[in-house]
Amino acid sequence: MEDFKITKEFADNLMTLKGNIRGGFFVSHFRYVKNLKGDEGVKLVEERLERLGYPTKEKEVSNVKWYPEALASLMILATAEVFNLTKEDVFQMGKESIKTSFIIRVLMSHFLNLEKAFKEAPKYWRKNYDFGNVEIIGFGEKEKHCTISIKNFRLAKDAEKHHPWTCVYHTGYFSGIIEMLLPNKKIKIKHEKCFFSGQDEMEFKITWD
Ligand SMILES: [Zn+2]
Repeated sequence: MEDFKITKEFADNLMTLKGNIRGGFFVSHFRYVKNLKGDEGVKLVEERLERLGYPTKEKEVSNVKWYPEALASLMILATAEVFNLTKEDVFQMGKESIKTSFIIRVLMSHFLNLEKAFKEAPKYWRKNYDFGNVEIIGFGEKEKHCTISIKNFRLAKDAEKHHPWTCVYHTGYFSGIIEMLLPNKKIKIKHEKCFFSGQDEMEFKITWD
C-alpha cells in the first residue's frame, strides 16, 4: 500500500466507531484472500490484525454473528497493506468480493429484474448492517442510471478515523453488484458525495450503456 502503514493508533481510533456488520463479510473476505493468496495469505492477514490488537481468525468467524463494522474496514486496509496493493487493486478487491459472498449470490439468484433487486436493497442492508440506511434513487432502465445513497453510515465528523481506500473498496463493491445484475452492460461508477468531503452521506452514481 503506497505510503500507508496502519499504525496502532489508527487502528484504535477506527475501532472506536460504533455500528455492526454481519459476519458474512469476514467469511467471504477470508475466502477472497484464500483464493488469491492461499492459506499463507490468510495467515498474513490474521497475523496483521492480531499485531494491531484485533485478532480475527478465519476459522472462528461466523456468518450469523455481528462484528464491529470498523473491523471490516480494518481488515480491508490490513489486506491492502500486507499484500502491498494499489488503489486499483483495492477497487478490484471490492468488486471481486461479490463473487465470494454467499449471501449476495443467493440474493441475486432470486432477483428477476433490476427494479426488484433495488427494492430489496434496504431490506438486504438491514440484515447485514445494524446502522445506516441504503436507498436507490432515480433508477430507470430506460434512463440507464441509478444512484445508491447511504445515510447515517459514514459521518463527516468521523472522516479522520478512516482511510479513503475503504471508499475505493465500496465503489468496487457496488460496481460489482450492478455488473452482476447487468452482465452485458458497460458500467461506470462515480463516488462523489462522501464523508471525506464533509457530507453525512455516501453517494455512488452508476451509469451504463
Ligand atoms: Zn467516500
